[in-house]
This record gives sequence, C-alpha cells and structure tokens, in this order.
Amino acid sequence: MNIDGYTRTCGLIGCPVEHTMSPAIHNTLAEAMGQNLVYVPFHVQAGHVREAVEGAFALNLLGCNVTVPYKSQVIPYLKETDPLAEKIGAVNTLVRVEGGFRGYNTDMPGLLRALEADGVTLKGEKVLILGAGGVARAVAVMLSELAEEIVILNRTVEKARKIAEEVNACAERKPARAMSTEDWRKLPKGEGYLAIQATNVGMFPRTDEAVIGEPDFYERIHTGYDLIFNPAKTRFMQLTEAAGGRAYNGLKMLLYQGVIAYELWTGRTVTGELEERAYHAMKQAMNIGDGE
Ligand code: NAP
Repeated sequence: MNIDGYTRTCGLIGCPVEHTMSPAIHNTLAEAMGQNLVYVPFHVQAGHVREAVEGAFALNLLGCNVTVPYKSQVIPYLKETDPLAEKIGAVNTLVRVEGGFRGYNTDMPGLLRALEADGVTLKGEKVLILGAGGVARAVAVMLSELAEEIVILNRTVEKARKIAEEVNACAERKPARAMSTEDWRKLPKGEGYLAIQATNVGMFPRTDEAVIGEPDFYERIHTGYDLIFNPAKTRFMQLTEAAGGRAYNGLKMLLYQGVIAYELWTGRTVTGELEERAYHAMKQAMNIGDGE
C-alpha cells in the first residue's frame, strides 16, 4: 500500500470496532482494483456521533461504514437518507455528497445477495426470524413484500410483537406474527420453514449455545441461515444439518454489504473474481480455512 497525498480514506464508525473484518474487505478490493484508497476503523465513544460524522466530512473522507451501536444514531446528522435505509431505520454506509453524507443500508441488500448466492429463495417462503433486535427488524421489513409468512420468535415477545405490527402496518398483506421463543412447539410440523437466526446466541466465545437447543425444532425447518459468522459453523447450523436441513453462516452477508458499500463509494463494479478475493481475505483474517 503506497499512501501519498492523493490517498482517499474510508472508515468504520462504531464502538467497539476492534474485531471488524471490514478492513480486510475494503483494503483487498482497493489493492486489487488499483485504487488509491485506504480503509481504517475509528472507535467513536458514546456521545460523539455527531462530531464523528461532521469530522469525517470535514476531513474529506470518501465514505464510512457505521456499526453498532450507531446505525440509527447517525441518521439526524446526514444530508440525505436513502429510502430503503429510512424504511429500515438503520444506516450502515455513508457516501459523500455535496455538503454532507447520504446514508444507505447495505446490510439488507447484502443479505439478499448472500441468500441468492447460496441458492436460498425468499419469494413465497414461510420464514422464521429468531430474534427481534435491530437486524431482525430490518430482515422482517425486507421480507415484508417477499415472504408468504413471517413468524418472529423472541425471548422478549413484546419486541417481536412491535416489529410484526410495524411490518403489517406497511405491507398490503399482513404476513407477520410474533411468538415467544419458548412457544416454538406451536409451529406446525412439516411446514418447511426457512429460519433466519438473528440473535447473538452462539457467537464466539459461547459457541456451544443455540437460541433453541431442542432437535425437534429443527425438523420444522428446511434451511437455517445464521447471521453470525464467528464461529463459521454455529450450534444452530449444526442442529439444522443434523435434522437434514441446509445451513449457512453470515459471512457472505458481511462480504456483500461491504462490496455494495465499496461500489457506492467508488462508482466501480466489483466483479465475481474480486468478491472471491475479498471473501478469501476475510476468511484468512478470521482463520477460517477455505473449506469452512
Ligand atoms: P441486538 O439488536 O442486540 O438484538 C439481539 C437479539 O438477540 C435480541 O432479539 C435478543 O433478545 C436476542 N438475544 C440475546 N441474547 C439472548 C439470549 N441469551 N437468549 C435469547 N435471545 C437472546 O443485535 P443485532 O444488532 O440485531 O444483531 C443480531 C445478530 O446479527 C448478531 O449476532 C450479529 O452478529 C449479527 N449480524 C450479522 C451481520 C452480518 O453481516 N453477517 C451484520 C449485522 C449483524 P431480547 O430482545 O429478548 O433481548
């Protein structure tokens, strides 16, 4: 990497940022595409989000990613917000425009691209969403016009209910309903659900945990999509496979949200071959072999 007076900077705003994989994605892409661009993490303390966004603009940053806990908090400090990000209520990518940043959400388009790459279809699917946090909400919003049925299961059922109400209020059909996680036995057997795991349960270092540990649950699902990517094979994925289903982790979602952000910043198209290179760099950074 040859940093000179023309080098453009992109960065990550979050707290914490120390475990991010994003530098591996963006610096690999910049190098492979011969672009004079560097990507660095910025640990922003609580209460300094406005200064971070305005400071990034003042320092002529080309763009930023935004991670927890600031994906909603940055919105008031943006010049513009893309309609999808506005609908989801979360921004993870800032793109420099005249006079400020425009906020986008590339997490959900990233998840769509990842599902597509893994051959998982959504149209007409019956989908279970495990969790009712920020990402689960975004997934439910994204699925509202695609899935036939959306069941949101959460430990705190009120949060699931709130999301279901929000989704049903803006979807023509009323596809969403909420359920307490402990009521999973009420889900009909043989329906064949796609389950999207959007809780923190099973994340490193508590890798032997799954939000539902009983093997019976997994007989109700044909595909398990875990948004966690560390470990590469979560307990949820193991249980899905043991019951005969297909299972995927969230690493491709992470890759594609980054690829889409990179394309927004640079106006260049990232080819399939470059995506592969960035994916390989992420796996190396995480010590995951190519066989996963
Ligand atoms: P969040 O807002 O903090 O929500 C966490 C969810 O997990 C809540 O529904 C919470 O339930 C549930 N939960 C936490 N601990 C639990 C436990 N012990 N038992 C049962 N439920 C529990 O988190 P988020 O921002 O939505 O992120 C969710 C997941 O998505 C994380 O694992 C994150 O790594 C992953 N993610 C992946 C990508 C990617 O690119 N692959 C991008 C973003 C996020 P309560 O409501 O009951 O507390």
